Amino acid sequence: MVCQTLTAAHRERRISPLRIPRIGFCDVKNRLQRSFLQAIRELNVLLAEQTQAVIDGDPDFGRFDLLIQTVQEKKDTAKYAWIAHVESHQCEG
Ligand SMILES: [Zn+2]
Repeated sequence: MVCQTLTAAHRERRISPLRIPRIGFCDVKNRLQRSFLQAIRELNVLLAEQTQAVIDGDPDFGRFDLLIQTVQEKKDTAKYAWIAHVESHQCEG
């Protein structure tokens, strides 16, 4: 909702030479940032678990690899969604 308002402001900004001050709050940006951070946390947990498995001499430490790869992709997707939104919406800061 907030974002639609900001997007409208952006369209005006392209038409108008006047600079609209940067807006520090954007629901979409915050949500995307939280998703990115959440994926980083999940990845950290998996890496810690795999590290512990190796330390413990667990021969099946490779079982984490597919999960790690999946979460890594999820993290990248979240990161690029966040960056793309901030770039197109200019709502960083
Ligand atoms: Zn935004």
